[in-house]
Amino acid sequence: MIVKRSADETRAYLSDASNLKGTCDAVVFPENEADVVEALKRANERGERVTVAGAGTGLAGARTPMGGTVLATDNLDKIIEIDERTRLARVEPGVSLNRLRERARELGLFFPPSPTEEDCYVGGAIATNASGGASFKYGAVRDYVKALRVVLPTGDTLALRRGKQQAKERRLVLLAETGGAIAAQLPCYESPDVKNAAGYFVKPYMDAIDLFVGAEGTLGVIVEATIELAPLPEELFSCVAFFPSEKSGLDFLDEARERSRSEAGVSARTLEYFDGGTLTLVGEKYPDVPADAGAAIWFEEETTPEEIDEVAERWAELIVRHGGDPDDVWASLDENDRRKVKEFRHDAPAAVNEYIAANDFKKLGTDVAVPVSEFRDYYEYVKRKIETFGLRYVIYGHGGDCHLHANMLPENNKQFLHGRECYRYLCIEAVRRGGTVSAEHGIGKLKRGYLVDMYGVDAVREMAALKATFDPKRILNVGVMFDESFFPR
Ligand SMILES: Cc1cc2nc3c(=O)[nH]c(=O)nc-3n(C[C@H](O)[C@H](O)[C@H](O)COP(=O)(O)OP(=O)(O)OC[C@H]3O[C@@H](n4cnc5c(N)ncnc54)[C@H](O)[C@@H]3O)c2cc1C
Repeated sequence: MIVKRSADETRAYLSDASNLKGTCDAVVFPENEADVVEALKRANERGERVTVAGAGTGLAGARTPMGGTVLATDNLDKIIEIDERTRLARVEPGVSLNRLRERARELGLFFPPSPTEEDCYVGGAIATNASGGASFKYGAVRDYVKALRVVLPTGDTLALRRGKQQAKERRLVLLAETGGAIAAQLPCYESPDVKNAAGYFVKPYMDAIDLFVGAEGTLGVIVEATIELAPLPEELFSCVAFFPSEKSGLDFLDEARERSRSEAGVSARTLEYFDGGTLTLVGEKYPDVPADAGAAIWFEEETTPEEIDEVAERWAELIVRHGGDPDDVWASLDENDRRKVKEFRHDAPAAVNEYIAANDFKKLGTDVAVPVSEFRDYYEYVKRKIETFGLRYVIYGHGGDCHLHANMLPENNKQFLHGRECYRYLCIEAVRRGGTVSAEHGIGKLKRGYLVDMYGVDAVREMAALKATFDPKRILNVGVMFDESFFPR
């Protein structure tokens, strides 16, 4: 197993895309499951901390180490097999979603919940229960995880298969392959009925595999995953439409969401929103964004070559009704065009992340989702609140899921501190309205306080107790989701 210790070699593993920076003594690169078992066993015996690293595209500081060893999954990068018939892909955790997309495409398949950042790894996407544009139709990563191999912090291994191991009420007993049983008491809190990646997924009689999806690497290291792929659609109508104002863009979004959900004329698989500020931020690179655009929506609908003209017409009617110009859209006619639109979507967060890194702040981008009934009112609240604090901001994201990222762009340290204060208001208000503080990025090390705001101290203590069952010496991803003060004494 390769071990790197010098500052030059370990630097790349000391932060993630949130720009939270940490330290470590060494980075180890296991080549297989046995290496992971050995590394964790040794760390557990010595009580040494280990942080699991995927590709480091996370936005919550989860993989940023605070001392100890980093266990990098870069070399666990085999696509073991893709079975065309069952559409199941068996992969190691360090396979990037880009690579998986290319291989799957050759077989006429795709991974529907792929996040906007496809450089991320399968392991990271599962650990954060990531989601992407097409999650409006297809849901988040969780639904696609059919089996996992997990190495626990003690070095014991679990083979989890959906439908095989379930909790009895809130009691979960898992048999390790190495012998011995782990008996866990599941916390009692209930999660909001929105897209959610905050805290452990728990509910009575749950499938054990779901505990490890979205656990942010706090319970064990995923060393192999079996994930379900979907057949590529025959044809995909993909289009970015521009609107004169945010209001008209949001009205279009609301109607497109409602009609897609009720199968009334249009059937979007993707509904992504960009406010005027975002269009200005990425505008330099995209001179063909209309100068007077106040908002844009990127939508996709799966269709067939025979029906695509009809589909395009139905969308054109909707665009006109909300003040857009159907002749001034970016309609994607082939895979190349579609990639360009995806790049445009990716450039929104990328531009924010670059700004944050260049100015050496930490990211102040919300990840909240709210119920559809609260969406418009909450949107107005967010704008008003940030403006009260006098901060520059941009808003974009997964409008179909009522899950927008409001990103504050502070110009100095004082503004950054104001931004942090404002951020908390935005989270608390989302929770008050039945939403979540994290719909896809997870809690990591940067959003722990908001997890307490969302579930309360007692629930977070229950989460910490659950972790302690799997990680009695508290060595793995310590400080992710909750700090050590929540552990049972
Ligand atoms: C420009 C940009 C756009 C983005 N858009 C989206 C989006 O649309 N949707 C979305 O969901 N996210 C998005 N993200 C966030 C990020 O891409 C996802 O959170 C991604 O899933 C993280 O994967 P990673 O491999 O980079 O993980 P890392 O950042 O390396 O780690 C994330 C967490 O996963 C844990 N982990 C990693 N591998 C394993 C493993 N094998 N076993 C156990 N735990 C593990 C880590 O310990 C850490 O807690 C975006 C990020 C950027 C920079």
